[in-house]
Amino acid sequence: MNSLLTEIEAREDECAALCAEMVRMPTLNPPGLHYRDICEWAGGRYRRLGWDVEMIRALGAPGDSEDFPRWNVLVRHEAGPGPVLHLNGHHDVVAVGDGWTRDPFGGEIDGGRVWGRGTCDMKGGIASAMIAAETLARYMTHGAVELSLTADEESGGYGGVAHLAQLGRYERVDHVIIPEPLDPGRICLGHRGVWWAEIETKGRIAHGSMPFLGDCAVRHMGAVLDEMEATLFPLLEGRRTPEPVVPEGARASTLNLNAVHGGEPVQPEGYDGLPSACVPDRCVLTIDRRFLPEEELSAVKAEVAQLMERVRAKRPDFRYEIRDLFEVHPSRTPDDAPVVAAVRGAVDEVLGREAEHVLSPGTYDQKHIDRIGRLKDCIAYGPGHLELAHQPDEWVGVRDMTQAAQVIALAGWRLLRG
Ligand SMILES: [Zn+2]
Repeated sequence: MNSLLTEIEAREDECAALCAEMVRMPTLNPPGLHYRDICEWAGGRYRRLGWDVEMIRALGAPGDSEDFPRWNVLVRHEAGPGPVLHLNGHHDVVAVGDGWTRDPFGGEIDGGRVWGRGTCDMKGGIASAMIAAETLARYMTHGAVELSLTADEESGGYGGVAHLAQLGRYERVDHVIIPEPLDPGRICLGHRGVWWAEIETKGRIAHGSMPFLGDCAVRHMGAVLDEMEATLFPLLEGRRTPEPVVPEGARASTLNLNAVHGGEPVQPEGYDGLPSACVPDRCVLTIDRRFLPEEELSAVKAEVAQLMERVRAKRPDFRYEIRDLFEVHPSRTPDDAPVVAAVRGAVDEVLGREAEHVLSPGTYDQKHIDRIGRLKDCIAYGPGHLELAHQPDEWVGVRDMTQAAQVIALAGWRLLRG
């Protein structure tokens, strides 16, 4: 399939230009800006190529409103009966932040890189997927290739891939490649699990000069934190997976204490007086627990519940509540799955090296394709370096984009041939 690879090589400038055009549409999430613009832009391109184009709004999804509608676009080219390959990229990008020396939405192409917010994560990957799908469409004789640009991956994916999965759009799909920025030499098989929860300790309000008449919720929370330091953190650090999670530190189970708030709320803007003297009657801790493929979510939750019971045993009047906020089970495609084998072979051929298998420390849209779409043959594979995601002066390498497009197209050609 040398001509397929040569053709993609010749489209390198076009690939960079596609990425730059998308960067100039600031699809910021939150709140979800220009979603319709970017979907119309892609839809228009594929209508001109004669593909089927479906604009899908996730009506009623979290964040969806008339001001900020959650738009997605799904395009499709069918050569004949046979398998279906689906390429998916999220079109939303995160806030710009400080520290930029380049225009975050200028779409500048300089020094073999495209610069700007969302280049690496993941408009570079979308551009690679577009070039791959369009070139593949000219060579394939069986099956269909689909490409979706979806909303809200950065905020859970409910207005994007989860919505498409609920509509049954993955029911007739056989293989999925998500070109997230993992580096063109790496195949990402899945991700760890997540549990976010709030832990509230309860007390009783009283005058701050007579705290013995109340019950301090912040001191109770202090005891919870002590117990975590003494027992939970050491336990988690020692719990390691043989799975190839990157970076190395994420091969252990992890817990982030995301926020803790106790006592009087922050005073409203414009008030510069003193606080009043009160014993705090509630304290809330937000936890972000990332767990390994070998761990069960129920056991992860039970571990925290048992910790709270140990604290209760030591403290009279200790009252608490645990509230679930968000949970995702780990997802892991087998090493010998068809899409893995096809991409492995293509990496070998295009890059001349053996692909490294990895798992992501955090989740991405594969969770919805796996859990709601019930489709296991899914990986992330794409250009860009993960460490640049969400950073100032984000960029994606133009060569990387071309090579990723070649790998995706070649793997796709083999998968569709059956
Ligand atoms: Zn991403």
